[in-house]
Amino acid sequence: MPKYPTALTLLIAYLKKLPGVGTKTAERFAFQLLDWPAHEIQGFSTHLSELKEKIAHCPTCHCLTDSQSCPFCSDHNRNPSQLCVIASARDVFSIEETGTFRGHYHVLGGLLSPIDGTTPEHLNLERLKKRVDEQGVKEMIIALDSTLEGDTTSLFLKEQIQAWGLSVSRLAFGIPLGSSLDFVDGGTLARAFTARQVF
Ligand SMILES: [Zn+2]
Repeated sequence: MPKYPTALTLLIAYLKKLPGVGTKTAERFAFQLLDWPAHEIQGFSTHLSELKEKIAHCPTCHCLTDSQSCPFCSDHNRNPSQLCVIASARDVFSIEETGTFRGHYHVLGGLLSPIDGTTPEHLNLERLKKRVDEQGVKEMIIALDSTLEGDTTSLFLKEQIQAWGLSVSRLAFGIPLGSSLDFVDGGTLARAFTARQVF
């Protein structure tokens, strides 16, 4: 005999697939949803089912788009000779929020990871090279995580990009804004020292 009616059990099972959601939280969410008015539930399920239908990856940069061409590749005010390499389509939104970058993006779709079985072939460098040639890229900015996988992938990309004769940079690492040195971990402080700038 299941603990809950079948529809509720299935909903809980789906909610548990979300990151950071365990059984207790999923149950709480499911019961909360039960209390929503019918039109809210209808709206929620409509948007959910439209996700895959209406949102696609741009064939050029792999950013998310809900039209034929993505807002970045089709914006003529952006500089196509600057290409920012990111791991996931989600990273674009964080960078866009800063309002500091007006070039184009290139989503890798992952980071090199022997544990997850992500090898250089998965990064599809041919697609990247094709863009470099076709849109006259001169400068590449690597904006990957500061993790073991991010560092490994950045080093790998750096060698490739330099072999193509392009200028390559990586986002700086350092002391978070507004923080005191007392609270900065040793690794971050060491990186901040290495990446220090003329002042
Ligand atoms: Zn695009």
